[in-house]
Amino acid sequence: MQPFDYVRAGDLHAAITGAGAIDGSAFIAGGTDLMQLMKEGAAAPRHLIDINGLPCTEIKVLPEGLRLGALARMADVADDPDVRRSFPAIAEALLASASPQVRNAATIGGNLLQRTRCTYFRDPAMPCNKRAPTSGCSALRGDHRLHAIFGGSEHCIATHPSDLAVALVALDAVVEIEGPGGPRRIPALELHRLPGDLPERDTVLEPGELIVAVEVEASAAAARSCYLKIRDRASFEFALVSVAAGLEIEDGVVRAARLAAGGVGTKPWRLQAAEAALAGQPATPESYELAAHAIEGARPLPMNAFKVELLRRAVRRALLALGGTP
Ligand code: SF4
Repeated sequence: MQPFDYVRAGDLHAAITGAGAIDGSAFIAGGTDLMQLMKEGAAAPRHLIDINGLPCTEIKVLPEGLRLGALARMADVADDPDVRRSFPAIAEALLASASPQVRNAATIGGNLLQRTRCTYFRDPAMPCNKRAPTSGCSALRGDHRLHAIFGGSEHCIATHPSDLAVALVALDAVVEIEGPGGPRRIPALELHRLPGDLPERDTVLEPGELIVAVEVEASAAAARSCYLKIRDRASFEFALVSVAAGLEIEDGVVRAARLAAGGVGTKPWRLQAAEAALAGQPATPESYELAAHAIEGARPLPMNAFKVELLRRAVRRALLALGGTP
């Protein structure tokens, strides 16, 4: 591991100015992903700024919605009874992530900013445009079974790994950011970037910016939501395909549907065509089937074509779980 300096930021201002002052800085909180990347040689920050002392640990469920501080621990949010009741997709996404030990240490902000699990990205011996720009993409002609069917480019097809991000995108969450240019708020859907020709940039965060909180409005669809994750083994594994779904049903009719998918996109993937196909339809298995088949735009490669059908089945299953059994 490359040597690095370490400082503990006393407040938000010190964290932001510290990061802006030194090239090659990185924030660290739980460290569950960053330390692994540093040990593997896939990341080499020269200056670590520990932000664990910042006052960003709140878990607030109010009538108008949910506010999660970026430093709230994943396990604490997943265990919160109000989160489980009013935002079940969020609690379920967190419980489906990592191991209990990792969830105890990892934070909400860190989970959203974790790097891809593409094995080539984490192997410094292999070409990878995301880790070493312009070196090439080993996955395109290599093993891409786990890679994206939405949002890829000729430079990168790595999937985004966060389960939580998928639930937040489905529920129209807002991400609160602080940085050298002041505070700003962006939809969770806009936090992560498509790789395009700059795959090394995962998010729209500028240098020195950090996430301080996430907010989700209360809604009928958020209260009637779920997270379904399909993976190669039952625990401690990243998604082959996942679906966050929320339904608002009134008098047997779907008034609003929220659908997003993980494990299939280079960023959390909102399934707008499927949502539109459901709106105003009877809350029946037939409508859920139609919604699943309305998913469009997939561009699979030979090894991951199975994800198209797996995603349809996952959407149908999640909707059935929320809206009735066949
Ligand atoms: Fe690197 Fe992306 Fe290609 Fe994986 S898919 S090897 S992360 S450029």
